Amino acid sequence: MDLNGIIQERASATMISEEASACWLELQNADRIVVTAHRSPDGDAVGSVMGLVNHLKSKGIHASPVFPDRFPSNLKWMPGTEVAQFHEENPTKVEGLLQDADILICLDFNGPSRTGGMEQALRESPAKKWVIDHHQNPEEFSDRLFSDPACGSTCELIFDLILGWGHIEEINQDTAVCIYTGIMTDTGSFRFPSVTVHTHEVLMHLLATGMNHASVHEQTFDQQSIDQVQLHGFAMSERLKVWPDVGLAMISLAQADLERFHYQPGDTEGLVNRALGLAGVRAAIFAKESHVGAIKLSFRSVGAIDVRAIAAANFDGGGHTNAAGGIYRAGTLDDLEALVEEQRRDWFGVI
Ligand code: 5GP
Ligand code: MN
Repeated sequence: MDLNGIIQERASATMISEEASACWLELQNADRIVVTAHRSPDGDAVGSVMGLVNHLKSKGIHASPVFPDRFPSNLKWMPGTEVAQFHEENPTKVEGLLQDADILICLDFNGPSRTGGMEQALRESPAKKWVIDHHQNPEEFSDRLFSDPACGSTCELIFDLILGWGHIEEINQDTAVCIYTGIMTDTGSFRFPSVTVHTHEVLMHLLATGMNHASVHEQTFDQQSIDQVQLHGFAMSERLKVWPDVGLAMISLAQADLERFHYQPGDTEGLVNRALGLAGVRAAIFAKESHVGAIKLSFRSVGAIDVRAIAAANFDGGGHTNAAGGIYRAGTLDDLEALVEEQRRDWFGVI
């Protein structure tokens, strides 16, 4: 097995092996380590936090997993999540952990505002802040930055870090399933253009631990409630709008729609990709009225259509070229639809 191949392919990344070794020394000497991710944590956020925490644990290093808010129930199976702390539920405890930490490892986000209500506590933490992330344009808030926007997931970068530590043969199954999950969810189950030979090499090493990949897929994707499945059906039949002239599809859900189907975090996961999957559609928008006055937006696109730029310029958002998010605060869902209708040629171009 040619590990050098992996190392060389990753040579463009900002963290080289010497830096990885320096990091390892600092981790060994730290008293209190906290690992965190962005708000509304997804598979890559939870997977990278728990993958790193589990690996450190296997090496006798304790690190506390902390999240701004709860993650969806289909990610609760991940080993170690039972000790995770949530700022939204226990701000005093979490703020204490952030204040007392020597090293605060920030995963899968490029700026403090991505942690929502935890932002101030994160900024005020005296800990050394390390950022490991794959979003473009990381803000300057870290003491160490391991950033590779070309990489499909933060979990792939966590694997590279473990590789840099020389621990590749010592990854245990608890660590492997977490890293596998983040790669799986952030690459649409290994299908997006961000998937490379390196990604599959990483997966090969994870599977070699004996981890049960079929169970990871099953637990993450095949545990949907009737409410969730019916919400998806309702969204596709009643709340989908398509503009064929620009290859755009949009799904909008009002608060009343969510309440009707007893919405739980994570229930709308995957909807925007279903819209993108329509024949002739090159870009999709999912709009969710999260509370009155704020509409959370998800964008997906194919090819060169840069939805990150659209989200950043118009919706105080960001993300990646083909997957981005933002917030609309200037009006109702109807106002938003009117805005999209009006701007669609400028934003998405005519086919
Ligand atoms: P999703 O649509 O799955 O929530 O997010 C897609 C991508 O856009 C993710 O990479 C996520 O980090 C990013 N993203 C989602 N919402 C926001 C936002 O409000 N601000 C920024 N900067 N990025 C976002
Ligand atoms: Mn990610």
